[in-house]
Amino acid sequence: MRGYYIAGNWKMHKTRAEAAELAKALVEQLRDGKHKYLVAPSFTLLETVGPLLKGSNIVLGAQNMAAEEQGAHTGETSVLQLKDLGVGTVILGHSERRHVYKEDDALINKKVRLALKQGLDVILCIGELLEEREAGNAEAVCETQTVKGLEGVSAEDLSRVTLAYEPVWAIGTGKTATPEDADAIHGSVRAVIRRLYGESAAQRIIIQYGGSVKPDNAAQLMAKENIDGALVGGAALKADSFVPIAKFA
Ligand code: PEP
Repeated sequence: MRGYYIAGNWKMHKTRAEAAELAKALVEQLRDGKHKYLVAPSFTLLETVGPLLKGSNIVLGAQNMAAEEQGAHTGETSVLQLKDLGVGTVILGHSERRHVYKEDDALINKKVRLALKQGLDVILCIGELLEEREAGNAEAVCETQTVKGLEGVSAEDLSRVTLAYEPVWAIGTGKTATPEDADAIHGSVRAVIRRLYGESAAQRIIIQYGGSVKPDNAAQLMAKENIDGALVGGAALKADSFVPIAKFA
């Protein structure tokens, strides 16, 4: 009942020319792709990449947004500005936002509710630090981030939310959670959604895995019952590595 959803987070990489080259290659090479796709370039690249994705099967995503609609917020980017550029989905709560830029659950929840209110879809990232996993707290951390991140989100709006489980120790490190470990967390997060929103919402919600996903581990991860796609960082920066993940067999 759930399809697969593969997203590429380009982080703070690429000039406009480089981004255009990658976007064109992805449009061409994913034309016959069977899943749902998204790329999230930096804000400065949205106006370049957006028109190149028009009419394709790849959604234009943003990597973050402000918690306020507009106003005196120097250096921030508003949901209205993202919509104006054709952004359909925003990634919120990425571990780099949580741990480097100190965004807490309350702020992330405010952004989630604003994005949904303004009609954007959301990829809400959750995931534990290495010390939290080693202390046996991975499930509890993910549960808290899920519950707090979704506070005040209606069942109807939940249908526009994707969750991305990204263990922080696996992001950009080359270390991947085993498919079994990832699936266990995905299963526990799905149970949280079941408790909050009921069985059919739990069955419908897409939970991506993120953390050093590569062409050679994508299929094993995606074979797991509760893993419904991937949020890809490093390997999303080249068509040669993103396309095989997006077309995993
Ligand atoms: C990410 O940034 O969301 C991510 C998963 O990065 P990487 O694939 O490089 O680990």
